[in-house]
Amino acid sequence: MFEFLDRPLERRITVGVKVGDVMVGGGAPVVVQSMTNTDTADIDATVAQVAALHRAGSEIVRITVDRDESAAAVPHIRDRLARLGTHVPLVGDFHYIGHKLLADHPACAEALAKYRINPGNVGFKDKKDKQFGAIVETAIRHDKPVRIGVNWGSLDQELLTRLMDENQNSGSPLTAQEVTREAIVQSALISGEMAEEIGLSRDKIILSAKVSQVQDLIAVYVELAKRSNLALHLGLTEAGMGSKGIVASSAAMGILLQQGIGDTIRISLTPEPGGDRTREVQVAQELLQTMGFRQFVPIVAACPGCGRTTSTVFQELAATIQEDLRRNMPVWREKYPGVEVLKVAVMGCIVNGPGESKHADIGISLPGTGETPSAPVFIDGQKAATLRGPNIAKDFQGMVADYIER
Ligand code: SF4
Repeated sequence: MFEFLDRPLERRITVGVKVGDVMVGGGAPVVVQSMTNTDTADIDATVAQVAALHRAGSEIVRITVDRDESAAAVPHIRDRLARLGTHVPLVGDFHYIGHKLLADHPACAEALAKYRINPGNVGFKDKKDKQFGAIVETAIRHDKPVRIGVNWGSLDQELLTRLMDENQNSGSPLTAQEVTREAIVQSALISGEMAEEIGLSRDKIILSAKVSQVQDLIAVYVELAKRSNLALHLGLTEAGMGSKGIVASSAAMGILLQQGIGDTIRISLTPEPGGDRTREVQVAQELLQTMGFRQFVPIVAACPGCGRTTSTVFQELAATIQEDLRRNMPVWREKYPGVEVLKVAVMGCIVNGPGESKHADIGISLPGTGETPSAPVFIDGQKAATLRGPNIAKDFQGMVADYIER
């Protein structure tokens, strides 16, 4: 049973895996990663999306490698990114014919920083064993790590059937859901052992076992963490669109991270049509930041607003400041180490405005409905200025930038 956890448990100690220059596990900070949804054979589109994801904060980016054309494109994508100054480890996502693509395209095998293998469609019996083995041998030859990524949408059916049969013949049968969870865990562990038997060292193996239901994900990863010290990649698969995907992913991964489980995370959001793919990176960063594991951007504390904030100045200012900070972070982070721990408050009225603003590094209390149209600004807990007139928002943005420069 879960115990009440009032603070994160110590990180589970895992075997660290270098993915390109990024350390996953072994006590390293939890890594944010994401995946493109472009056709990898479309080099221009894939380069643009990988660069955008990396700019947004994705520390590793996975790309689909599903056919000869996409495998042939991979080294060009890596080179083009390097010319743009984008040095981010690329992971190849392989299914079914990954062994063949890697064998036929050695430049692709070399350009990738990691290979993802799905044991549900490459692994376990006879012919499939050989395919799994071929990918692992390629990884050994090129000195690359692999992620053994089980997904219950493509779970090995032979393994599941065998466990179901064994369960039926046992004295105290488990539920079908429990057997499925066990099959997912075993699929990951057995595949990890097979990779080791072939000769891949433990510091080259990451495990994942993705499901789409929150309680299943928690149960599966708690079990994986008990039975193995290999690095774990967390992700709720098919999490869904918009707030549903964000809430489900955050709930599941938040509980696991709180228990010290998880070395890298991906938030799998279904993008709205024409939506921004980088949203999933932002959500992953916000999850890690709000839980206190990492700092990525200054925190903007804003009140929710209420009947005392009938103008939209307050919401617009809070959104603009958050956007400004996020956009400028790559530059500021290089110039001003530690800037990400800055706290900015944007408050809607006098009720909680001055108090919250004083707790921030820099904060503003905007005038609520019926209040004198002036906005006190607090810096380091002291009232530093009072802004008035139509340019309050712009003036405050300038003060935030000046504060950071100072
Ligand atoms: Fe409403 Fe003022 Fe509280 Fe904001 S600080 S929620 S505007 S009462």
